[in-house]
Amino acid sequence: MAALATLRQEAARSADTHLLRLDFPGFPGIAFYFKDEASHPTGSLKHRLARSLFLYALCNGRLHEGQRVVDASSGSTAISEAWFARLLGLPFVAVMPACTAPRKIADVEALGGTCDLVGDPAQVHARAAWQAARGACHLDQFGLAERATDWRGNNNIAESIVGQMAQEPAPEPAWIVCGAGTGGTSATIGRYLRYRGLRTRLCVADPTGSGFANGWRTRDRAATATGCTLIEGIGRPCVEPGFVFEVVDAVVEVPDEHSIAAAWLLEDLFGRRYGGSSGTNLVACLQLAAAMRARGEHGSIVSLLCDRGERYEGTLFDPAWLRGRGVDPSGALQHLRACLRSGEPPLSA
Ligand SMILES: *Cc1c(COP(=O)(O)O)cnc(C)c1O
Repeated sequence: MAALATLRQEAARSADTHLLRLDFPGFPGIAFYFKDEASHPTGSLKHRLARSLFLYALCNGRLHEGQRVVDASSGSTAISEAWFARLLGLPFVAVMPACTAPRKIADVEALGGTCDLVGDPAQVHARAAWQAARGACHLDQFGLAERATDWRGNNNIAESIVGQMAQEPAPEPAWIVCGAGTGGTSATIGRYLRYRGLRTRLCVADPTGSGFANGWRTRDRAATATGCTLIEGIGRPCVEPGFVFEVVDAVVEVPDEHSIAAAWLLEDLFGRRYGGSSGTNLVACLQLAAAMRARGEHGSIVSLLCDRGERYEGTLFDPAWLRGRGVDPSGALQHLRACLRSGEPPLSA
């Protein structure tokens, strides 16, 4: 099929994402690694998911030449899906809440996609199903993220990390840390660690009171969020179908102020901006590292830089926007800087 050949060509043209190393004075003997998923052509880890969802739809016989493609997404998934739809010459519709940031609507439209805006954010899934009933192929990121990715390898994110760590002093990480949006990334990493028989543990870093955090503790799939968050891509209000609790060894809940401060800190550390969920990951890494340090353990911790910070210029990187929401990350930023020097945990137990 022509579409499969096009996706194979795209994969062959693509390079792997960098695994960047950092060392902090407060954590001697503990090396930190961050996989730069912002460096994909569409700027986030959703590039992997979008490629997998198109392949999955094609290989299941659900996607045909010229067919319209739809998904419910107001974030990075819509941008990556629009990019792949354009590559394949397929019309793409992103179902989004009408309150979605104009910048994101513009991003999807710039890639040739159309935005179907619905007034009530709770109606996006129903609207995508309605589009599908009228002949569109529903990529269904929340329903299929966990199974569309080849969890045993095929250069999924986990296999890539393990391969890139091979020459490091501590090649088997003590922890891998990621967030949970669709749950696809955590499911893929957790399964792969078991499949390969690694002792590495998996930590999900999520905003305080997220649906995942609340559900994971009690294995309650009906759990809902008890807090709301400014961090996009993670911190879902409910337990999404792709959340696999059993492969997750720990959940670290991070207050938004810390996530945002950590996103600012990442700019100092790497010389470029990353989004809020990358900050959430950094805070969780420091929390786990402080516990390792207290136990006298050495080793490595791997996490992800999930998307580009430019998307948040007018939000998380804009002090006036933050003030309007009653958020001031400057205290948390000083605190995190002190943690890098002292090795103390950033969050109180
Ligand atoms: C989707 C997303 C995540 C979480 O990844 P999942 O595989 O969907 O759980 C984290 N950060 C950002 C910016 C995302 O868009």
